[in-house]
Amino acid sequence: MVVRLARLAPPIECVRLYDLEAGLDGFIAIHSTTLGPGAGGCRLWSYPDAGRALADAVRLAEGMSYKNALAGLPLGGAKAVLRKPEGPLDRVALFRAFGRAVEKLGGAYVTAEDVGTSVADMQEVAHATRHVAGLPPAEGCAGGDPSPWTAKGVFDAMEVAAAIALGRGLHGLTVAVQGTGNVGADLCRRLADAGARLIIADVSPVRRDRLKAVLGAEVVDVSEIASVDADIFAPCALGGVLDRRTVASMKAKLVCGAANNQLANADAAAMLVERGIVYAPDYVVNAGGIINVSAEYLGETESDVEARVAEIGPRVGALLERAAREGRSPALVADEMAEEVIAGAQRAAA
Ligand code: NAD
Repeated sequence: MVVRLARLAPPIECVRLYDLEAGLDGFIAIHSTTLGPGAGGCRLWSYPDAGRALADAVRLAEGMSYKNALAGLPLGGAKAVLRKPEGPLDRVALFRAFGRAVEKLGGAYVTAEDVGTSVADMQEVAHATRHVAGLPPAEGCAGGDPSPWTAKGVFDAMEVAAAIALGRGLHGLTVAVQGTGNVGADLCRRLADAGARLIIADVSPVRRDRLKAVLGAEVVDVSEIASVDADIFAPCALGGVLDRRTVASMKAKLVCGAANNQLANADAAAMLVERGIVYAPDYVVNAGGIINVSAEYLGETESDVEARVAEIGPRVGALLERAAREGRSPALVADEMAEEVIAGAQRAAA
């Protein structure tokens, strides 16, 4: 089977960030501003070279356009990727310099936390710009760490997807969770509460062992987590985990997790369909965080966030049912639906 993953035109703007003194080295990629300002988190990660960081920024920004469109948010897609310095890191200097770069874009880009960044980092960004979310919230207002909302959306999506793909609830199912960071750990707690059995892996022994002790999860090596004997595979680390090799060895019958850009390529999406593994599209499943970010930026309340995050499960359910009816990859169906939203807005604005 050939699956064409639909994709919009390339990013409309890429900004190089470089401030040697502050340790700032990276990119902001703005992929689409049709629906509103380009919004997406700021990732701090070790990249071997600037090219790799740029490629990640572009890919992630594109994903944000699709995610925001399908979540019904008035936001386009963008992302910042910062290269983690080899030596000591002055986070205050780094994130203030990053904030100044965001401010220069005059609101075309709205930033927030992502892998490797925190609420404290965004507070430093806020010294230089108001185009930042993920700050500590005022009473009743939306804001703060988006991870719990992301985890809630992933959990809800998994419940619905398990009913469709496996014909049962999460109680008694085995879930393999790759990455026990902010989202992965929260998801594990929710799964344990729901009576699921957990198998976990993380490159950080501290994060992994903490959960093992609290939840009694089985720990496996990071090289094994995608192929363990589990009902569900939940990627909650970095992107690109679903390639032909991983999919070929996967025993789980459902993939549903928080990581962005899980599919390494279109081949992997096709192979998932061929192997009868149901794939709940990443950006539909993990929209809880950006829903929280959007509400904070737009001055909305926590109840607004709750209501919108509650739509993720039913949205994933409708999408998986449509994909099954049409015998197509859910990834492709999601891309098409998001493109319809963006194209509709483009037509309305013309
Ligand atoms: P995090 O940095 O807190 O956690 C990621 C974890 O993955 C870390 O513990 C890290 O050690 C681990 N990890 C990295 N490489 C690994 C590997 N090869 N195998 C196993 N573990 C590995 O990040 P997070 O905020 O929990 O986000 C997790 C994923 O979800 C990311 O892909 C992120 O882009 C995506 N996401 C997060 C949010 C959010 O609200 N935080 C929202 C949407 C999407």
